[in-house]
Amino acid sequence: MPGRATSAGMRVQPLVLVIDDSITYRTAIAQALRSAGYVVVAAATGEEGLRAASRLRPDVVVVDRVLPDIDGTEVIRDIRLEPALRRTPCLLITADEDPTVEYAALETGADAYVRKGDDLSVLLARVAALRRDAPEIVDAPASPAARRVMLVAPDGAPHVSQARALPPEEYEVFEVASPSDAVSAIRGGEVACAVIVMTNLAGGVSTLDQIRSAARDAHVPVLVMQDGSVPADASHILARGADDYVSASDDPGLYAARMRALLRRKDMDDEDRRVAQTLRRHEQAASAAEARADVAEQESEFKDRFLAIMSHELRTPLNAILGFTQMLERGVGGPLTAVHHRHVSGIVRSAEHLLTLVNDVLDLAKIRAGKLALRRDVVDLGAVADTARLTASSIASQRGVVLHVDIPADLPPVRGDAVRIQQILYNLLSNGLKFTPPEGAVHLAAAVDGKSVRIDVRDTGIGIPRTDFPRLFRDFERLEHGQSQQADGTGLGLALTRQLVELQGGRIDVESEVGVGSTFSVWLPIASA
Ligand code: ADP
Repeated sequence: MPGRATSAGMRVQPLVLVIDDSITYRTAIAQALRSAGYVVVAAATGEEGLRAASRLRPDVVVVDRVLPDIDGTEVIRDIRLEPALRRTPCLLITADEDPTVEYAALETGADAYVRKGDDLSVLLARVAALRRDAPEIVDAPASPAARRVMLVAPDGAPHVSQARALPPEEYEVFEVASPSDAVSAIRGGEVACAVIVMTNLAGGVSTLDQIRSAARDAHVPVLVMQDGSVPADASHILARGADDYVSASDDPGLYAARMRALLRRKDMDDEDRRVAQTLRRHEQAASAAEARADVAEQESEFKDRFLAIMSHELRTPLNAILGFTQMLERGVGGPLTAVHHRHVSGIVRSAEHLLTLVNDVLDLAKIRAGKLALRRDVVDLGAVADTARLTASSIASQRGVVLHVDIPADLPPVRGDAVRIQQILYNLLSNGLKFTPPEGAVHLAAAVDGKSVRIDVRDTGIGIPRTDFPRLFRDFERLEHGQSQQADGTGLGLALTRQLVELQGGRIDVESEVGVGSTFSVWLPIASA
């Protein structure tokens, strides 16, 4: 038997709230329910019952129609008004034999109805049927249920016309003669409710047995309509798995009301299942995304470690290659022919390029792994800019570009790592020089800007389209515009520069106009600030 979900998510016995002022009847119902495995809470008045319902959120409410303070149908209406209880199945009991009372009860929101004269087994069977309907978190239909009611009627069943009149107007009615056709229609998602038109008890029960599990799986309620002449036992039919039971010889309006109650509950349950399923999908998507993020993080950590180790290992032999070829180039081992000299120079340029790449990769990998140790010294920018200018001057003269460096003598010192600041300035200067045509100029200037020193590296080069700005600082990004592809480079310089600036508490920005030039600006904190 499905139980209630507690806040801890455990399933416990279902709770039934019984509201009845007659102590005798109340005790009898409570005992019957308890022996069927329910937990029962009893209330003697409507007010008391409503308070208990709010507090306890029962799985089913059984309420007597006549109470000393409020009418039982009013109690059900009030329960329906409370959002948390809106979907709690409510069963109305009455001593009244008048079918219009049941009709009214179903219309005001009761899900089922029991007469006091009925055997208690009928009440137990109805409570069980209401509980069966309670939505479990299982697969819900993807779309709202079909608005079709299926009559399962053997050929020549005498009461088909009454059965046809049962469903509300907005539902289409269709008929099948065999239980296997009924099962196919249910599995095909075509059915909102199935009505078995029973011509004899054995046939009806057999049909019910054959379609019951398909109907349960598809959350399709099953109503059995008995031929008035068949003395069927209501509680037997309900216990066998039907959700409700009507007799063809009774008031058709009443049974239409019962069917409406079944369909209403099915709609609410389907909606619950859809909401639960959506929530579950979101949870699954969130945990899959989390797992993917974990894997991505691990992969990225692995990649950074791998790159750090590889570049470290590459640097030693590369420095040796560079050292020996530079010696050859300078003629230390004896004079070279012009051809040999050209070839050796080619090796030197390529080895230098490779060393820059390896150094940048190593630095980036160290930064990503949080392993790049930076000093926090008081740094005189004038001295650092001078060294950067000296290193960049060979590129400037090779390219025929003028290089100006203009650092005011009274510029306050910044806080950071002198070697890394020099690397930043060199990267920006060499880019400016690389992307500026001969006879152009690259200008390095600095000034106080609030609590920072702002350093501008301005060139009169090819410029950068604004749409490319977001790509500039990404790893291995080289832009395709102008002649920029022809210049030497790895596409790592600006990515590394930005990381180095930010690690020292600064920031970097760019302004540029295609064909006019670019200005890269770096802000670094003033040492005294
Ligand atoms: P690279 O090693 O290619 O210079 P960077 O990360 O330093 O790598 O620069 C990335 C790309 O940004 C360059 O390939 C170039 O297309 C563009 N770029 C950088 N600086 C400038 C500049 N001053 N003028 C024009 N384009 C530039």
